[in-house]
Amino acid sequence: MTEMHRESPYPMVSLATARAMVIAQVASLNSEEIDALSAEGRVLAATISAPEDVPDLPKSAMDGYALRSADGLILRRVVAELTAGAQSGLLIGPGEAARIMTGAPMPAGADAMIPVELTEERDGLLSIQRKLKPGDYVHTVGQDIAAGQQVLARGTLIGAADVGLLATVGVTRVPVFRRPRVAVLATGDEVVEPSAPRPAGAVRDSNRYALMAAAREAGCEAISLGIAPDDYAGQRAAILRGLEHADVLLTSGGVSMGTRDLIKPILAEIGTVHFGRINFKPGKPTTFATVGGTLIFGLPGYPVSSLVSFEVVVRPALRALQGDARPERPLALAKLSAPVRPSHDRPEYQRVVLSWRDGTLWAASTGGQGSSRLLSMRGANGLLLVPAGDEILPVGTQLEVLITGAL
Ligand code: AMP
Ligand code: MG
Repeated sequence: MTEMHRESPYPMVSLATARAMVIAQVASLNSEEIDALSAEGRVLAATISAPEDVPDLPKSAMDGYALRSADGLILRRVVAELTAGAQSGLLIGPGEAARIMTGAPMPAGADAMIPVELTEERDGLLSIQRKLKPGDYVHTVGQDIAAGQQVLARGTLIGAADVGLLATVGVTRVPVFRRPRVAVLATGDEVVEPSAPRPAGAVRDSNRYALMAAAREAGCEAISLGIAPDDYAGQRAAILRGLEHADVLLTSGGVSMGTRDLIKPILAEIGTVHFGRINFKPGKPTTFATVGGTLIFGLPGYPVSSLVSFEVVVRPALRALQGDARPERPLALAKLSAPVRPSHDRPEYQRVVLSWRDGTLWAASTGGQGSSRLLSMRGANGLLLVPAGDEILPVGTQLEVLITGAL
């Protein structure tokens, strides 16, 4: 029988140190060119500048009449009708006006337009109710986007407005960072497929599926490496198999102090272990190693520990790998809506429901915060950082919170 260790040989690092050590190992992946018009959710790998002015010609900003402002308030003769999409060869002379629709190029000679609401037209003669200045109600060349202007920066997570901008400037192909391939291995003799019959005492593998879903949500491709029993050679082989295909490998379980916790020794044998313990709850045994350029995270077995560790340690790395200039979740300050008991020796990320009330962001606990109680993550849209301490924190205490879901 193997001896049980009483003390982990790995030094305890702070969460900030752990996160910095991870980011130090991240080099963004290479890029690929894709259709810009459906590129939402991807991260731009090049800065995009406008090849031309938008609009490219002076255009009418409203429906009305194009005219010469210098003519003042005199009656004008309506000589033409100009619609969007049509180019006229028209020249507006003194005392003349042309009906013009929103978006139609301004005719030569006209330096302003007047909205139809401020006019009257009778028998081909136009009277206007307001004096105009040059440029009134005219969209000038490059007013929306100037030629050469930066439209989107490298590292932008492309959203709907960005797709619209790319379409506007006629950029239909863009380079984006490749999606990281994340392989996930569950470990444990007691762990079974959720679809398989469950022998007494066995635990259904929730971690592998939750972690694969979390990786996809973070913009990655997820690869399943199945469940490896608690056997050194088998787990080692499964990890090596994962390394052939993955940019990042996640394992679940097997990183604690039990005699069947084999992940740390395996990672130490095949690569470099950067840390093996983090000073936070609920993910103390979270381990980080690299083999060549591949990042390996040994996440704890308890489902909450596994997902919270993913959120605070792994996810920023997955975002940084795909070039995201803002890889972190947004941070805010929230007030406690009920008293909270801190962990006496470690900072703790408690799962909370955040909501706005009376101009304040409030954090309400999701209930029992045990590491095995996955229900404590249900409905949570924030991870509240509760500093270590022995005093209960009263209602209204303001704490930092990571915003992990929609408010
Ligand atoms: P370990 O860190 O390997 O000792 O695992 C701690 C506990 O986490 C186990 O006793 C299981 O109850 C639970 N666990 C381990 N792996 C999984 C998994 N893949 N899915 C759900 N629970 C798990
Ligand atoms: Mg285990």
